Amino acid sequence: MVCWIVLASPAGLAMPALNAVPGGIVQLTLEPIDQPAPTVTFNQRKTLVTQQNGNWITLIGIPLSTKPGEHKAVVQPVGKSRYTIAFDVKPKKYPESYITIKNKRKVNPNPDDMKRIKKERGQLGKDLARWTQQEQIDLDFRLPAKGRMSGVFGSRRFFNKQPRNPHSGLDIAAPKGTAIHAPASGTVIDTGNFFFNGNTILVDHGQGLISGYFHLSAIDVKPGQHINKGDLLGKIGATGRVTGPHLHWNMYLNHTKVDPALFVYDQLTELDDGAKAR
Ligand SMILES: [Zn+2]
Repeated sequence: MVCWIVLASPAGLAMPALNAVPGGIVQLTLEPIDQPAPTVTFNQRKTLVTQQNGNWITLIGIPLSTKPGEHKAVVQPVGKSRYTIAFDVKPKKYPESYITIKNKRKVNPNPDDMKRIKKERGQLGKDLARWTQQEQIDLDFRLPAKGRMSGVFGSRRFFNKQPRNPHSGLDIAAPKGTAIHAPASGTVIDTGNFFFNGNTILVDHGQGLISGYFHLSAIDVKPGQHINKGDLLGKIGATGRVTGPHLHWNMYLNHTKVDPALFVYDQLTELDDGAKAR
């Protein structure tokens, strides 16, 4: 298969691969690092700012709902006038995916379920809006689990033939109890059992970079706990809306779901069927 999307990952630097498409990541170069770090916003949300090759850069998560065409980030340098940087978002057609769920309530929830779902949505929204100002961001991500890549980010999903939201993460199928390790250092934001996501862990990596682990059989960390890369987070399971045991892994930048494959682009072939996501 010919891969027509141009992806760039700066050699020797632990950075995610870039892809200026809905669900992808855009990098913009800002001021030299002899200046204080500027603040950047996209869609009124702060974006991650870090250093690369003597410059401040920003990494912007592009929402799946973004229309292709020109978009602008707003840069506010310290003590200087604000300016904008324009960039192009290219279209991307994600595949369709048809899933049959035996538990019909997970596809058509009853009124009590809807109350619970609404409450959980509020809790998750609050968790994901979290911003921790820290200069050092660990962008050198490792795969959180070994297994078979059973679902790619962005696929347009139909549950029991009914259209639902696009797939927001990357699925790794493995037997129940398979270990999930922290792909990078961070702090646990929240854990719990959610209607769709099942047993869940959210980890803050700083400046709006957040990872999520869903459908677990066991949670081995607590909110507020600092974790190092490689620490045990939990175990793969089949809780929530699933067809079988797997890890659903989400990545967020500026409160936006982005393709987790971009963070482990060099390691995808370690997963069975991993080439599918490239
Ligand atoms: Zn999934």
